[in-house]
Amino acid sequence: MSICEGIMQVLEEQSRVQHYQRIRTVWLEVGPLAMVETDALRFCFEAVTRNTLADQARLEIIERPGEAWCLQCAQTVPIHNRYDACTQCGSYQLQVTQGDELRIKELEVE
Ligand SMILES: [Zn+2]
Repeated sequence: MSICEGIMQVLEEQSRVQHYQRIRTVWLEVGPLAMVETDALRFCFEAVTRNTLADQARLEIIERPGEAWCLQCAQTVPIHNRYDACTQCGSYQLQVTQGDELRIKELEVE
């Protein structure tokens, strides 16, 4: 729930800066390492936006693939969890480069 409250806070702050009255669609970028369940996210989004400027807003979730840099292979490899081993060499010396994001990518407002 707190994730959605955070999103709602951002939406309200932005409405003051950008002077919009109503939010129609929210595109949210989510990586597999952000550890959020998209179904739960949709459910709590609906709950926290009720009777706000984002009431009835559509939530579009853009799932980003997880990626890490393997120090052994010296290349980018796909990962699904933060502590995954390299799919190429099995090494755990990975640096996550993408996939832990949870951010608002775009808004459709009026
Ligand atoms: Zn590797």
